Amino acid sequence: MPELPEVETVKRHLISEVVGKTIVSVVYRDKRLLKGITTKKFSELVEGKKIERIIRRGKVLILGIKESGFIIIHLRISGWLIVSKKEEKFARVLFCLDDGRFINFCDQRVLGELKFSFNWQDLPIIKKMGQEVFDLDSKAFIALFGNKKSKIKPLLMDQHFLAGIGNIYAQEAVFCAGVHPGRQSNDLSPKELSKIYQCLKKILSKAIEKKGSSVDTYRDGEGKKGEYAELLKVYQRQNLPCVKCKTKIIKETIGGRGTCFCPRCQN
Ligand SMILES: [Zn+2]
Repeated sequence: MPELPEVETVKRHLISEVVGKTIVSVVYRDKRLLKGITTKKFSELVEGKKIERIIRRGKVLILGIKESGFIIIHLRISGWLIVSKKEEKFARVLFCLDDGRFINFCDQRVLGELKFSFNWQDLPIIKKMGQEVFDLDSKAFIALFGNKKSKIKPLLMDQHFLAGIGNIYAQEAVFCAGVHPGRQSNDLSPKELSKIYQCLKKILSKAIEKKGSSVDTYRDGEGKKGEYAELLKVYQRQNLPCVKCKTKIIKETIGGRGTCFCPRCQN
């Protein structure tokens, strides 16, 4: 599932490729992606209009359309966007641009979402969203997490609390910090929280640089796999030796999600 680094990678690609281009038409191969609006209305609002800017908020992409409103894209589990000259495999909705290319909204399992909004800040998903990691400094992060009576790893993934982190980067961050994923957030020392914050920022920055992790269907804007998957230290490494101490990595369900960790390094 695309998390902050993957969605940020797609955003950067779209900024370089499609800002300033006009959407000539929209082709719907599968209407199920479209939520809360008809194809007719959606087309009326975006066809013949210029893509003015691209914003990322958490895992959500927002395309500002000149003199219209905003196209809202949530890739969810298996969605990705490819800008190319042809219709790509699993393309469910295609935005045909004035330079002859398409933005392909591909989604093998059709679980993504495509919406339109006149004011993206008013969308419930955006209003309920927690802060961006990169908007917080260490002190603010410690204050935020130090007061919360929840397990640290599920809390990192709670979009209402902190935006953009999912199951991959939450596991990697607590491993990097040497903190057990099931510890209560308010029981962690400021030093431990500071370590998690530093690890999270370092890991996310590196993952953005490597254009994300392709552990499933995710592809970057050119349809290529992200390269961060090779650098993952604990995610999906159950029964393999810990990269730090060689102890066997174990997998447990924490907060309803499978979580890999080192029983020796993470306390
Ligand atoms: Zn270890």
